[in-house]
Amino acid sequence: MRVLLVEDDEMIGRSLKQALEGAGWSADWVRDGELAQSALGDGGYTCVLLDLGLPKHDGTEVLRRARERGDATPVLVLTARDGLDDRIHSLDLGADDYLLKPFEFRELLARMRAVVRRRDGAAHSLVGSGALQLDLTTREVVANGAREALTAREFALLHALLERPGAILSREQLENRIYGWGEEVTSNAIDVLIHGMRRKLGAESIRNVRGLGWRVAA
Ligand code: CA
Repeated sequence: MRVLLVEDDEMIGRSLKQALEGAGWSADWVRDGELAQSALGDGGYTCVLLDLGLPKHDGTEVLRRARERGDATPVLVLTARDGLDDRIHSLDLGADDYLLKPFEFRELLARMRAVVRRRDGAAHSLVGSGALQLDLTTREVVANGAREALTAREFALLHALLERPGAILSREQLENRIYGWGEEVTSNAIDVLIHGMRRKLGAESIRNVRGLGWRVAA
């Protein structure tokens, strides 16, 4: 799954990007509000980590404009301890949660899972419905009562499909949900991923709609 990291502090940004990638996220890092806005406009993010004090537009401005555009991507605000007014303002503008710096990385991951599953409409760590569910904590798929481990990319792909069961996602839409900037995407990458997942989950788990894309059953 892709996360947009908006942070102008080089040291925090670099260490967060590295830690997020280590935890299986594709992390795109931008250092100012203008770039954050244009990245959000491209879409494809499962979650946004948003610093508030930023060059060009501050974080609350980025958030306000995103929500005005109807962008509902979960936003977790990362903020300094003394910014109570900013935190309240950002929650009122539509932030999903906030975390005070400095924080423990484990807590950040847990809060990211929490905002993502709330957006998915799940009260616990399982998202999805019917025969296929995803466990955000263990990165496993639960299919017909059995659990299977997934790679980070398999997980991102299935999460994208399960957000709207029955809807067809094109190759481009799936690539956009899985790969961050600068990641090499071979022309058959999605086919290879889906082939592997069908082997794990059964041939009927992900349906191909010829010429259009893929879907999971509604
Ligand atoms: Ca800052």
